[in-house]
Amino acid sequence: MNYVSTRGLAPVLNFADVLLTGLARDGGLYVPERLATIDGPALRSFAGRTYAEVAVEVMWPFVEGSIERDAFVAMVGDTYSPAVFRHPDVCPLVDLGDQTWLLELFHGPTLAFKDVALQLVGRLFDHVLSSRGERLTIVGATSGDTGSAAIEACRDRDALDVFILHPAGRVSEVQRRQMTTVDSPNVHNIAIEGTFDDCQDLVKALFGDLGFRDELRLSAVNSINWARILPQTVYYVSAAVALGAPEQSLTFAVPTGNFGNVLAGDIARRMGLPIDHLVVGSNRNDILTRFLDTGRMEMAEVHPTTSPSMDIQVSSNFERLLFELHGRDAALVTRLMEQFRATGRMDVAEERMAELRRVFDGARLDDAEVAQVIASTWERTGVLIDPHTAVGLGAAQACRRDPDAVMVALATAHPAKFPDAVEAATGVRPALPTHLADLFDRPERMVTLPNDQATVASFVREHARSV
Ligand SMILES: *Cc1c(COP(=O)(O)O)cnc(C)c1O
Repeated sequence: MNYVSTRGLAPVLNFADVLLTGLARDGGLYVPERLATIDGPALRSFAGRTYAEVAVEVMWPFVEGSIERDAFVAMVGDTYSPAVFRHPDVCPLVDLGDQTWLLELFHGPTLAFKDVALQLVGRLFDHVLSSRGERLTIVGATSGDTGSAAIEACRDRDALDVFILHPAGRVSEVQRRQMTTVDSPNVHNIAIEGTFDDCQDLVKALFGDLGFRDELRLSAVNSINWARILPQTVYYVSAAVALGAPEQSLTFAVPTGNFGNVLAGDIARRMGLPIDHLVVGSNRNDILTRFLDTGRMEMAEVHPTTSPSMDIQVSSNFERLLFELHGRDAALVTRLMEQFRATGRMDVAEERMAELRRVFDGARLDDAEVAQVIASTWERTGVLIDPHTAVGLGAAQACRRDPDAVMVALATAHPAKFPDAVEAATGVRPALPTHLADLFDRPERMVTLPNDQATVASFVREHARSV
C-alpha cells in the first residue's frame, strides 16, 4: 500500500517510510492511497479468532509491500499477548445493560488506550530500523499520559533512544512514577523547570534546529503518525464481531482529544464495518462538538479538566477526516488548514456538514456532569470508570438515536489512573492492578533541567546513541 499526503505535495511513501517520517514534508498527514475493505464474509471469518489474528488480517493490506508478512505476524502476536495486555481478550467488552457496552482499552502496561497502538509501533520502529541498520532518537513532551505510553513502547529497544520532557512537579504522582520507574538504559526522563507549554516549546525548538535534528535523527511518536491510527481500527472490528456483525450494526462513543481514536472508527466504517453512528465526546474543551453544531472550527483557550488527556485545543487528526469529506481534494484541504492557522477559524460548507452529521454526533460534558456519570454508573452497574471514559459514556447516553441500537462506549483509561476524580464521585478509591501495585516503592530515575534549549540539547546529545 502506498500513502499520500493530505496536502498533496509530499512524496508518495510505503508503510515503513510513513512510520519513520511521521508528519509529511508539506505539513500534511499521510493517508493510505485507498482503503482495504472488510466485507460480510471477512467479518464472519473473524468470529472465534484471537485478537492478534484479527489484527493481522485487518492491518495487513495497509502494511503489505514494506514489511515481510512473517515478521509482521510475529510482531502483532508479540504485542497482543498476555505478557503485554493483561486480559485474554486484549480489549474486552463489559455489559452495562440497556444495550450499552464498555470496550475496555486499558489492559496494557500504562493503563490507557494509547498502549494498544504504541506497543505495536515501538516494535515496528525497532524492526524497520534494525533491518536498515539505522537508529533514531525519539523526543517528546508530555503532560502525563502520552509520555508513559511512549516510554513503555520504546524501552529496551536497541534502535531507539527516548527522551521525554515533563513539567517538574506538575504531573500527578502516578503519571510521573509510570515514567520514571522504567529501568532501561535507552529511557531518559527530563523534568523541566517550567510548564507543559515550556516543554512543548523546547521540543519544537529542538526539531526546528535542523542541524541538531539531522545529527540526532530526531523523530516523534505522536498521534499524527499513521502507524498509531491503524492498530486502533482493529478493536472496532473485534468488538463489532463479538456483538454480532455483520448481522448486527452498532454505534461507538469515543472520548475525543486529538481525534485519533474516533478517526480510526470512521476508517473502519469506510472499510465496510457496519457502524451506524460515531459519537464524539468532549470535555469543556469542546472545539469538536461546537464544530459539529455550527460547521465552524474555532480555536479557544484550553481549560484544565478532570480528563486531562483531552485538554486539547486543536485536534490534529481532524485533517484526515477533512480530506475524505472533501473528496480527497488536497488543494482545498491546504486552503482550509492555512485559513485555520492564520485566523484560528475554519468554515466547512453546509452540504459537507450534512454529510458529516449523518454519521457523527457530539456531546460535551463538564466536570460536574462527568462526576455524575461516574457515580451513576457505579450505583447502577458496580463498574468504576475513569473521567475520560465517563465523557464518552455520558455522550453515548445523550446522543442515543434509537433505544434498541447497540451502543459501545470506549473505556480509554483504567479508573486507578485517575483515582482522585473517581473517589470524589463514588467514595471508592480504585486500586492499581497487581503489576503496578508496587509503583510507589520503585526507585525513580530522572534529571531536572532548566527551561533552556542549549542545556536540553547537550543532554540529549550526550546520552543518545544515534550519534
Ligand atoms: C489520549 C487520550 C484520549 C483522547 O484520544 P484521541 O485519540 O487524542 O482523541 C482519551 N482518553 C484517554 C485516557 C487518553 O489517554
